[in-house]
Amino acid sequence: MSAGIGTAEDVAAEAARRRTFAVISHPDAGKSTLTEALALHAQAIEQAGAVHGKAGRRGVRSDWMDMERSRGISITSSVLRFEFGDALLNLLDTPGHADFSEDTYRVLAAVDGAIMLLDSAKGLEAQTLKLFDVCRHRGIPVITFVNKWDRPGREPLELLDEVEQRIGLHPAPLNWPVGIAGDFRGLIDRADGAYTRFRRTPGGATRAVAERVPADQAAAEEGQAWATANEELALLEEIGAVLDIDAFAAGTCTPVLFGAALPNFGVSALLETVRRLAPAPSARTDAAGHARPVTAPFSGQVFKVQAGMDRAHRDRLAFIRVCSGRFERGATLTHAPTGRPLATKYAQTVFGRDRSTLDAAYPGDVIGLPNASGLTVGDTLYTKTPVTFPPIPAFAPEHFMVTRVKDNSRAKQFRRGIDQLDSEGVVQVLRSDLRGDQAPVLAAVGPLQFDVFTARMADEFGAPVELSRLDYTTARITDKESAETLDGRRGIEVLTRTLDGSYIAVFVDKWRVRAIEREYPDLTLTPMLAAG
Ligand code: GDP
Repeated sequence: MSAGIGTAEDVAAEAARRRTFAVISHPDAGKSTLTEALALHAQAIEQAGAVHGKAGRRGVRSDWMDMERSRGISITSSVLRFEFGDALLNLLDTPGHADFSEDTYRVLAAVDGAIMLLDSAKGLEAQTLKLFDVCRHRGIPVITFVNKWDRPGREPLELLDEVEQRIGLHPAPLNWPVGIAGDFRGLIDRADGAYTRFRRTPGGATRAVAERVPADQAAAEEGQAWATANEELALLEEIGAVLDIDAFAAGTCTPVLFGAALPNFGVSALLETVRRLAPAPSARTDAAGHARPVTAPFSGQVFKVQAGMDRAHRDRLAFIRVCSGRFERGATLTHAPTGRPLATKYAQTVFGRDRSTLDAAYPGDVIGLPNASGLTVGDTLYTKTPVTFPPIPAFAPEHFMVTRVKDNSRAKQFRRGIDQLDSEGVVQVLRSDLRGDQAPVLAAVGPLQFDVFTARMADEFGAPVELSRLDYTTARITDKESAETLDGRRGIEVLTRTLDGSYIAVFVDKWRVRAIEREYPDLTLTPMLAAG
């Protein structure tokens, strides 16, 4: 290679070949299956099933992992990294349960593109819609994959229509199914007309047989299904359902692929589409509005902090998305909020649940820093030229609880646990002088967050807690002056968010918000990003 390691050319080339993305979907649409199929296809892992280990998890995990297992949901997130051709793909896994959308949101702050995964029988579902809203809000381009085509489902044109009508995304199919869902024959590639026939193999975890069949043979063998598919293709041409790259980058057009993750059919076309179309990391805008190019000295942003991922590493792992420059393990970074230096001797990549040591990372990569006790979600880290990226906004909480330590002799552990779980974003911690430090308010998007909080306070911090519900359902960001008008009114309370010091007004219902807005139109009452 002519460009030396760490030079602007080297960083630009490495950034250009990276694709950092996430899969957004409703639970059960097949996200775990697709993740495994993608990695399997890219030969990153030997056999489907090793990434999420749904069939048999390896090793003993921490106690709240047991909770995760018993509920059958995925609480932790992992980063899957694999080479595909000349590209390097970073697939950031997102927790699937509705209650963890806050976590998912943070992961979406670290990606450059997303795959929207739909179940062919269900189309757009509630959680997919919510997550799509986040993508739209952040301007993340979306590739659509219609999954489970091997099972009975809906008409392809009807599904496209739903995408267009409900979320206003112009769909551009890149391939087209032959045979109705449930009697799936194969896929026609719209770019070159090539037909790949689908044939099942016994067992799920291996690839289906994908066989190239010439058009005249397909026409003879597939009969009416072939004719129908070609009529539909002609219709697509007529209505101009073609991919507009600029519109895709702007988030108004989505390439659509059909397939089936379980028998691994149509997955290579999806990988190829990610490689070819998903955006590479590009300049990030900082809090002052300046773009920091990928070739600038190292900068990155913490998008997730997690503890208790593994008993053997009972620590706190901060996930950092590299925004610019080359990161080298051992480098000393500056923590933007405090100006303090941060050593990175133990930097890791995170592959499924196994961790391996990382020596270098480029824009788009994710670094795991263990024992990073001073790091909070949203923090910027840099070398040489200072930078601060805008904070990662939180979802609007809809559930509120007061928490207290059960045993007063554990007050110190209680405080430590609250600070820790607050900085990880397990719950948001709100306080007021009136309520005092012994009884802070916890705010959450979904009630399951409180279960995780309670379990971890007892298991990890030795501070069992009790919770009592508050009747609030709605929160708005406000300011000091408005707080004076609001505080003390019936059904309203103003608290301070510990993490960033902002004033949060909570209301018993939306009507109360509207009434106040009518009465005092000049008050600051900013809605947070809605989760539902
Ligand atoms: P997640 O909740 O989105 O992660 O969904 P999973 O990957 O766990 O899949 C949910 C169910 O759908 C599982 O029983 C999968 O085996 C099944 N599934 C996923 N993809 C396909 C597919 O392409 N075809 C069929 N027939 N089943 C699938």
